[in-house]
Amino acid sequence: MTEQLENLRNFNHYEFNSNVKVTLAEYIWIDGTGLSLRSKTKVFHHEIKQLSDLEWWTYDGSSTEQANTKWSEIYLKPVVFVRDPFRGAPHLLVLCETYLPDKKTPARYNFRWLAQEIMEKAKEYNPWFGIEQEYYLLKRTGTTHTWPLGWPNGGFPHPQGRYYCSIGERNNFGRALAEAHQRACLNAGLKIAGINAEAAPSQFEFQIGIAQGIEAADHLWLARYILERIGEEFGIDINYDPKPIKGNWSGSGAHFNYSDSKTRSEGGYEYILKTLIPDLEKYHEQSLFLYGSNNIDRLTGAHETSEYGKFTWGDGSRGGSVRVPIITKELGKGYFEDRRPAANIDPYLVGSTIVDITLLGGTYLDKLKQELHKSAQPLQ
Ligand code: ADP
Ligand code: MN
Ligand code: MN
Ligand code: MN
Repeated sequence: MTEQLENLRNFNHYEFNSNVKVTLAEYIWIDGTGLSLRSKTKVFHHEIKQLSDLEWWTYDGSSTEQANTKWSEIYLKPVVFVRDPFRGAPHLLVLCETYLPDKKTPARYNFRWLAQEIMEKAKEYNPWFGIEQEYYLLKRTGTTHTWPLGWPNGGFPHPQGRYYCSIGERNNFGRALAEAHQRACLNAGLKIAGINAEAAPSQFEFQIGIAQGIEAADHLWLARYILERIGEEFGIDINYDPKPIKGNWSGSGAHFNYSDSKTRSEGGYEYILKTLIPDLEKYHEQSLFLYGSNNIDRLTGAHETSEYGKFTWGDGSRGGSVRVPIITKELGKGYFEDRRPAANIDPYLVGSTIVDITLLGGTYLDKLKQELHKSAQPLQ
């Protein structure tokens, strides 16, 4: 029974009666780890047409590492809603920001408010993002142990080389899950641009974009939510560790492809080379602070990464911190790819960092770092 429950593929076992007219809104938020999501359901007896139809709600922050038991309540402020691909229409997934009881102080690891302020300031330049989210699929090999899907328990598969964009039973472990995720994201209305099997066996990627400003980060978080939920159904743990398996196995990144009205205009390529690359280099160390934890284990210079301590770039190079695609060079305008962010980033922080450096003169970097530092402190 437990087995069956763990791998339940269809949870719609009890259909609603036709006279039940409700909207189930799944309120979703980032918890006190800064990476895991939590969610709970609220039943509405009326139709939800706009954000203001969804009220603020509360939860027990002492159970999510965001509050102590005495002063435990945290507010949920709905900020984006999309179709719920699991429950179907008219039900919704609702991404929320978190606030302390004064309704003004952001709770631990809520950075969206700051990202919104930064994106608002840069709005006239229309910053676009395409985010590549890499992840591993892990299966359970015991109560607490996990190991990549398709790998022999405690052992290793054939070395890398044949898994990237692979087909075939020997090479591709978990396509059904990645495909289910892509479809669910499209059904939800998310801007997902594609999927591919990655360089390590049982490693995949999905891309969010092209999306403007804060929407890219909102959609990435919602796509992560859907991925975890699909993982539940397949009995698979989704892993965003920058280097989950030590040794000669690729780590997971979250490349940020970026452009704005200046890089997309005539002379954009020159502008990227002469202005943006030097600025990105200047703020390299500060950026890395905001580009995910344990990223130093991933940025080794091997496996299509650059070295942690050194900023490098190249036309069409996958060994640099930043790649300027050959199409950008060819057209003389376009976008660049920041390859440094780790898979476990908060896209609000990374998107803000790039926009701040390229469009706002780095004026928000200290604030961004401060906010992250503050959230990382143990609870009072
Ligand atoms: P890679 O070759 O690095 O694996 P991908 O195809 O996985 O590249 O991802 C590239 C991403 O760049 C896509 O998601 C795409 O939406 C995005 N992209 C393309 N053009 C632009 C642009 N002008 N601005 C921002 N992002 C872009
Ligand atoms: Mn890619
Ligand atoms: Mn990739
Ligand atoms: Mn890439």
